[in-house]
Amino acid sequence: MRILVTGGCGFIGSHLCARLLKDGHEVLCLDNLSSGSLDNVAAIKHHPNFSFVEHDVTEPFCTECAQIYNLACPASPVQYQNDPVQTARTCVLGAINMLELAVRNGARILQSSTSEVYGDPLMHPQREDYRGNVNPIGTRSCYDEGKRMAETLFFDYHRQKGADIRVVRIFNTYGPHMLENDGRVVSNFILAALKGGDITIYGDGSQTRSFCYVSDTVEALVRMMEAEPAGGEPLTGPVNVGNPNEMSVKTLAELIVRLTGSSSGISYFDLPADDPVRRKPDISLAKSLLDWEPVVSLEDGLKETIRYFTEKIR
Ligand code: UDP
Repeated sequence: MRILVTGGCGFIGSHLCARLLKDGHEVLCLDNLSSGSLDNVAAIKHHPNFSFVEHDVTEPFCTECAQIYNLACPASPVQYQNDPVQTARTCVLGAINMLELAVRNGARILQSSTSEVYGDPLMHPQREDYRGNVNPIGTRSCYDEGKRMAETLFFDYHRQKGADIRVVRIFNTYGPHMLENDGRVVSNFILAALKGGDITIYGDGSQTRSFCYVSDTVEALVRMMEAEPAGGEPLTGPVNVGNPNEMSVKTLAELIVRLTGSSSGISYFDLPADDPVRRKPDISLAKSLLDWEPVVSLEDGLKETIRYFTEKIR
């Protein structure tokens, strides 16, 4: 099958491209390289079934394909707040352009949405039918509201134009190919621990997240794309994809210090605006629809990620 992956040079996208090639597909990777890197596809760029086109999804794109994974968007708070107008454009125009392409091709299209659509959630853990607690005018809104609008577009293209859509809401994911400077908690903590600098905790570190290793996330994306509905109802989602193993940021810091054997101390800084207090996915739907749940333990996943960053900064 010929499959288009937008954001294919990004953190999750590059692992997805490799996986699809392994499954025997032809992969066309689209990326504007704003937060993705050709380094991430170095191991697959000479594969005969892989091709790369530098392209920004805010511009229309034309090709033949049977499936589209729409992953193109800066996804860490630091990256997506860097040029918030461009982030909103990527979410909205990117969704429209890829949905138009999907409809023209009769292709199935999967949207990588996000736990950020729940904002600072008042329901815990978050289920797909929770409508969220999102600030529409804050510094995170370009991404939160952009991704919410993208979901709206997916469902309107589905209802109005018959688009064959799949929507997944991805919770915090970590692993090799995370950007060194994207400011996420896992990469920041590992790099600080490896370099012997202080671990930077924002707030008092009691806020929680649930971390999913990237191979588990990719498995869920592929299953969601491939799943066929059992009864006549289309399997559109949205479906949460994440690891329900919730922990505080402080506990994560201690674990990374232990696994790296680092002598780093901890420094405390102000909590960024609208930083969610708690986040944990309810993955009952993914379990029942996709027979999926994460299999990589946090310790194993962190060890792989530490190995990756150790090589990277050598
Ligand atoms: N965080 C932190 N120190 C860092 C980076 C992040 O304490 O160096 C916190 C951040 O404030 C948030 C959590 O870790 O509460 C996860 O942040 P991240 O940017 O990875 O993603 P988010 O889940 O907020 O989108």
